[in-house]
Formats: sequence, structure tokens, C-alpha cells
Amino acid sequence: MNIDIIPVTPFQQNCSLIWNDEKKAAIIDPGGDAPKLIKRIEQHGLDLQAILLTHGHLDHVGAAEKLKQHFQVDILGSHSLDKILFDSLPQQSRQFGLFEISAFVPDRWLDTEGEILNIAGFSFEILHLPGHAPGHIGFIEHQEGIAFTGDVLFKQGIGRTDLLGGNHAQLIDTIKQKMFKLPDDMVVLPGHGPHTTIGQEKLNNPFVK
Ligand SMILES: [Zn+2]
Ligand SMILES: [Zn+2]
Repeated sequence: MNIDIIPVTPFQQNCSLIWNDEKKAAIIDPGGDAPKLIKRIEQHGLDLQAILLTHGHLDHVGAAEKLKQHFQVDILGSHSLDKILFDSLPQQSRQFGLFEISAFVPDRWLDTEGEILNIAGFSFEILHLPGHAPGHIGFIEHQEGIAFTGDVLFKQGIGRTDLLGGNHAQLIDTIKQKMFKLPDDMVVLPGHGPHTTIGQEKLNNPFVK
């Protein structure tokens, strides 16, 4: 898997552009800065297949509609329990003092736990990871050993739970019951900050003991 991590928005959200050797690509959490993302996709000469969203926060979805229109591809995810967040995108823009964007819904909600999504030559297992957002999901590529899990688990940190639909106890449960069941050597590419592994977080994460 080829990966280009592109920080977007003032929140430095890690948008992940991934592609295989045939240049088939997917983009995960294009939170903003659409012109920069479009340019990057074109510079790499990629054939974008889909836009994947982990959850409905503005810094993860802000450029999704623009990319969809430009490349004519579908937006997949997150889970439909995030509909309240997608509906509240205009309020989120005002709350965070960012560019105003319209509410939208994905082309397909990814509500089926364990569904395998075949995109750009990769197979992603869909896991429902609520707590930071009610419909938060993860895209787990077992063959490659990489998990794209948004704002659930960070290097020595966890997602905040004071936003709409957040629930701290549920987040801890998600991390212990789902994330920590993944292999220790699986790389976690979070929505913010440096990457880590499941094993490192089991040992070092002060929020999940
Ligand atoms: Zn978030
Ligand atoms: Zn975020």
C-alpha cells in the first residue's frame, strides 16, 4: 500500500491518500483544503475509486463533497448513527470558526459490522467504534496490517468525548473490546498526530489501563 498522509484544516487532521501499484486509490477523511487534495491526487496520477469517512466531524468530512463532484466517486461511511453530525455540519463550521459547509449525507452508510469493503485493490474490514462519535467506524486492512481509525485511539491519547454524541465509557469500551483485539503489530493511523501500534498503546496509553 502506498500512503500519502496530508494534514488538512487548522486541526491538522491526517487525511490519508492510499493507492495500489495500479494507481487505484481511495482517500480517507478529506477534512478540508479540497484544492490541495485534488492537486495531490492528480500529481500522483491516481485513479480515485472512493471517498471513505470514519465519522461526521467537520475536520474529517469538509472536502468530501467537492472531491465527489470533481472525481465523480461515491462517499462511503460512516455509520448512520452519525446522521446527527452530518446534519449539523453548518453549525460545526460556525462552532469551530472554519469555512461554512452545507449538510450532506454519504452515498452509503456503512452499518454492517465486519463487512469487507473491497476498494482500490484493498480489503477493509468495517468496525463500528462508537464513543468519540456515535457512528464512528474504522477501516481495517488486515493484509497490510494497517488500521485507519480516526479519532478513537491516538499515540498515548484517546478521542475527546465532549462533543455531540460523545460518550467516554463507550469510547473506553470500544478501545478495549475492539481496538485491543486487533494484532499487537497492527499500525494505527489516527486522525491526528503520529501513528502508533496496538501493542504500543496497550503498554503505554495512560487513558486505557
Ligand atoms: Zn472527530
Ligand atoms: Zn478529528
